[in-house]
Amino acid sequence: MLITCPYCGPRDVIEFTYQGDGNRERPDPASQNFEAWNAYVYDRLNPAGDHNEIWQHSGGCRAHLRVVRNTLTHEILSVAFVRGAHTSTARRKAEDRS
Ligand SMILES: [Zn+2]
Repeated sequence: MLITCPYCGPRDVIEFTYQGDGNRERPDPASQNFEAWNAYVYDRLNPAGDHNEIWQHSGGCRAHLRVVRNTLTHEILSVAFVRGAHTSTARRKAEDRS
């Protein structure tokens, strides 16, 4: 599986470290809503299809990336920096998928 880092270009998945589900929203640190914290810590989506994930290019530029990956085919649909100044993305066009 290849992941196209917006900074480094296409690289083998062995250079990346999975950082978790990209859909989680961290509760306010001052919040004492234990149900929200419990959901943040333990609940995970397990979709059969497109999934929003966080990966780190740990063997390269060390950037944190938001990757949309199809869990059935492992097709990478989009890659973008999680934060910041970088705006480049590597998105496959819908017509490329078939
Ligand atoms: Zn990189």
